[in-house]
Amino acid sequence: MLNQKILVECISFCIFLFPICFLQAETVSAANDTTLSASSIVEAQKKLVTLGFLDAQPSGAYDAPTINAVKLFQGKYGLTADGWLDLKTLAALDSALNARSATPSRGVAVDRTVPVVETGKYGEYIDWAQADGVFKIGSIVKVTDFKTGKTFNVKRTYGHNHADCEPLTKEDTAIMLSIWGKWSWATRAVIIDVNGRRLAASMSALPHAGLDSAPANATVSNRSGSYGTGMNLDAVKGNNFDGHFDIHFLNSKTHASNKINPEHQKCVKIAAGK
Ligand SMILES: [Zn+2]
Repeated sequence: MLNQKILVECISFCIFLFPICFLQAETVSAANDTTLSASSIVEAQKKLVTLGFLDAQPSGAYDAPTINAVKLFQGKYGLTADGWLDLKTLAALDSALNARSATPSRGVAVDRTVPVVETGKYGEYIDWAQADGVFKIGSIVKVTDFKTGKTFNVKRTYGHNHADCEPLTKEDTAIMLSIWGKWSWATRAVIIDVNGRRLAASMSALPHAGLDSAPANATVSNRSGSYGTGMNLDAVKGNNFDGHFDIHFLNSKTHASNKINPEHQKCVKIAAGK
């Protein structure tokens, strides 16, 4: 009888207590799985990731890493660091994100995904007198066609008033041809990657003054580009390219007339963003 009474009292007490517990949970936390849906937790987790407090895939589970991230966030933003995603904390997350998009700050997550120093689109606008010393004869470099972004490798083999170059392999020759469409003297803006620098330059693609099939520097007839008989200016063999092509820089000059070529200079400017 006594036991029964205690049991009834116990049950009554629990029934009385339950709404209080529930109400408290509602107002204090708004944060366990009964009050925040998995998708709302995912949203909050995304915000925590963006702000750099959570380093995990948003899962919708209110797990230990999430609680820890919430605590860190609350601590940083002057809230009680209890780990609960209450309404105050949710609002603070939103305002932190808004402040961030108004003035880009350096959250951990952003530093990881966006390079702080973006590789410049343009090349350095340096005079041929300098470029000649950077892009030396014998250098193998990557060339990027400014307009298409296509790249190929070349070797500088000759030249004193501009850089005489040859495609490194027949694959590089094919890429060059795909950019120009046909072999021509047409000038295009290019970027030269050499020794960690990016130089603004201009290139024409016409193969001239050499034969791939004959030894370099030998005297040959029928050199490419109607250059006739003379020294075979073709040092890279097996690249499916007879002779060499030209790369110009600021104030570099042509072979024959020893003059600055305005078409090349126009393209150097484009590559330099001038
Ligand atoms: Zn040349």
